Amino acid sequence: MELKLYDTLSREKRVFAPIDPANVRMYVCGPTVYDYAHIGNARPVIVFDVLFRLLRHIYGADKVTYVRNITDVDDKINARAARDYPGIPLNDAIRKVTEQTAAQFQSDVTALGCLQPTHQPRATEFVLPQHAHKSDMVSLIKKLIDRGHAYTAAGEVLFDTTSMPDYGALSGRKLEEQQAGARVAVDAHKKHPSDFVLWKQSSADEPGWESPWGRGRPGWHIECSAMSAAYLGEEFDIHGGGLDLIFPHHENEIAQSRCAHGTSTMANYWMHNGFLQVEGEKMSKSLCNFITIQDVLKDWPGEVARFNMLKTHYRQPIDWTVKSLNESVNALDRWYEFAGDADPSDPTRTFLEALADDLNTPQAISEIHRLTHSSRAGVMRAGQRIGSRPRPGELRACANFLGLLTLTGSEWRSKAVQDTSVDVEVVQKLIAARSAARKSKNYAESDRIRDELTAMGVAIKDAKDAKTGEMTTTWEVAR
Ligand SMILES: [Zn+2]
Repeated sequence: MELKLYDTLSREKRVFAPIDPANVRMYVCGPTVYDYAHIGNARPVIVFDVLFRLLRHIYGADKVTYVRNITDVDDKINARAARDYPGIPLNDAIRKVTEQTAAQFQSDVTALGCLQPTHQPRATEFVLPQHAHKSDMVSLIKKLIDRGHAYTAAGEVLFDTTSMPDYGALSGRKLEEQQAGARVAVDAHKKHPSDFVLWKQSSADEPGWESPWGRGRPGWHIECSAMSAAYLGEEFDIHGGGLDLIFPHHENEIAQSRCAHGTSTMANYWMHNGFLQVEGEKMSKSLCNFITIQDVLKDWPGEVARFNMLKTHYRQPIDWTVKSLNESVNALDRWYEFAGDADPSDPTRTFLEALADDLNTPQAISEIHRLTHSSRAGVMRAGQRIGSRPRPGELRACANFLGLLTLTGSEWRSKAVQDTSVDVEVVQKLIAARSAARKSKNYAESDRIRDELTAMGVAIKDAKDAKTGEMTTTWEVAR
């Protein structure tokens, strides 16, 4: 089977050819563990889990190495630790925050049906040279200085972006443009505004490691260069992450890795999943539409969330809505009904070809839908064997391939059927309060009420009355 993947760097869909088919290597940037992961963080985890499954199918389950890191050193973590545990030494507080958050992340992504990556290294274990024959951050930074790609200034070690002729190739940003367009005051110690931190000094109570440049801590980008090289080598097959990581994170990973190792490539395929928005709006804490994976799992089985994510092609933006989640429940209901007690046979060729075409999950899902139609037709024509035949085993096999339909029918029914009783009076009062808030242009309040309704499992729809021109709101119980 020919696998084609879209590569952000070459900006084209290409036939995938691994460097070593006996060890196909993929790295995906993992979470910075300081807070609950939001539903946008779940997207790359699910998308690259499907790719991991596909690669294992094509090359063999023991022939694929998938590394997803955990960033457990970051100034956001320090700030959170100081805020949440003011009474204890900062380093102890940091450990509490990172351990709890990492454990929560593991349980979240397990509930979303994701396989464990082959390795999940923590950044703090790769700062100093202590793993035999494994890459580490301090050694990488030393190499960059030795090769003339980094310099020290004002206690920091910085990457010299002008030392790399094709810096900016992934994001398409040119250094000259960045110089001209730099709006923020250029840090006086930087040679060029694009130069970025590899190492910075730590105060006595901040996390720090002894290094040739004093006690300090690494910048974010160098973490992934060290951990990917440690497990996958200087050049590997696939590097993935969200679209928002292209610049500066992935651009800088490429710069560090290629300049430290003297290679022309870091990874052969750069894959990026699209953005996620919620009910048509960008997710942000200020809009109060910030949904954690935990929030989703409170209201929906993990399988519904996973299906809902895979209905959209990974490179397209996705709109996360209650309506769509409801449709996902209904689709899974149908699949469970048709699959019955059938054991999985083999996924169909059409299904696998869809996935092999740059992970076209919407196409793969329509193939599964088609199998349910075949089942229907087959049942109606039982005995005649004309046209379609029942294919519950294939349906289950295809769905399983996507990490779906993993329960028995009765497990699914007991999970999916939850209490949907909604107090009509409360809903009507909230909708009236929301309309009043909108009339007085208090949109923060009207959004807050909408979110409250969403959380209750109520989906609302605004429309203009054709006759009066007045805005009216209709609602329905989400499930
Ligand atoms: Zn990374």
